[in-house]
Amino acid sequence: MEGIILTVNAIAATSATDPLVRATVERRDVGPRDVLIEIRYAGICHSDIHTVRGEWGKVPYPLTVGHEIVGVVTEVGAEVTRHAVGDRVGVGCMVNSCRECENCKAGLEQYCTGGNVGTYASVDRDGTVTQGGYSTHVVVDQDFVLRVPEAIRYEAAAPLLCAGITTYSPLAHWNAGPGKKVAVVGMGGLGHMAVKIAAAMGAEVTVLSQTLGKKDDGLAFGAQHYYATSDESTFETLKNSFDLIINTVSAPIDMRAYLGLLRLDGTMVSVGAPPEPLPVPVFALFGQRRSFAGSSIGGIAETQEMLDFCAEHNVAPEVEVISADAVNEAYERVLKSDVRYRFVIDVDTLR
Ligand SMILES: [Zn+2]
Ligand SMILES: [Zn+2]
Repeated sequence: MEGIILTVNAIAATSATDPLVRATVERRDVGPRDVLIEIRYAGICHSDIHTVRGEWGKVPYPLTVGHEIVGVVTEVGAEVTRHAVGDRVGVGCMVNSCRECENCKAGLEQYCTGGNVGTYASVDRDGTVTQGGYSTHVVVDQDFVLRVPEAIRYEAAAPLLCAGITTYSPLAHWNAGPGKKVAVVGMGGLGHMAVKIAAAMGAEVTVLSQTLGKKDDGLAFGAQHYYATSDESTFETLKNSFDLIINTVSAPIDMRAYLGLLRLDGTMVSVGAPPEPLPVPVFALFGQRRSFAGSSIGGIAETQEMLDFCAEHNVAPEVEVISADAVNEAYERVLKSDVRYRFVIDVDTLR
């Protein structure tokens, strides 16, 4: 293990129930293949909240979360070729993987069979516990650092690193594009990105949200249609309609009703993670040879492709920038879906 040299300001969780507090984290020495990033903005993802509250398993407290990180390179190791001092860069949900399994070799590090190294709460290959982006600096292996195109504002780039790639990857994999009808379930942080990206890909986009409360936004983001799922007739009207449904909701839903919206060979992909298993009625799959699938973030190459796509198509998340001290309040608002559509921490307020 390398010597630890850098102690930096951060916000940390110390238990599942206490508010996050100001703290420091130690970053490893910049190794030959590492990049030191001065963080500018860090997005708040629902996963951060699940994690610090211990809802997804044991937590190595104190823990700094955050896996939507953007900043500027301030130092590079001797062997670094992919990034240079001054570059605008980003880091998403993973910071390492085995690099040897067939998935890693195929550029699908998110599906590393040995398990990728998460940006926080994971054990890195040097044995240290990873600490996330609610912090002023981070040291990351160059291969897991993305280039952020100039056309994307820093604060808007942050949510692309999780919410953006989580929705881009299944849209790309299942060929959303001209002639395809795509439904997006839920209009939160993930959902609003799914709408913007699917529309930019040329698909005909329908939003399925509990109410019509965000209809104007959905249409402005590029959706052609917007339906309330609280209205029973929606499921009759839209029966057998969609090639692809992206389900961003992390609550239980009526799988029979949603699967019934797929046309022949249609696929419903879940990217939200409900705490309980979703019961899938197999007869709903038989009917039109439908599929039910899951998808997890995206590989590094695909994440770069997504950033470049968003720059080219002028796709950016809607963000509300907050100071570091407002994080606890922001968590409560995320849990109440009271954010349009992603909180981003201005990390300058931590310096
Ligand atoms: Zn996330
Ligand atoms: Zn691997």
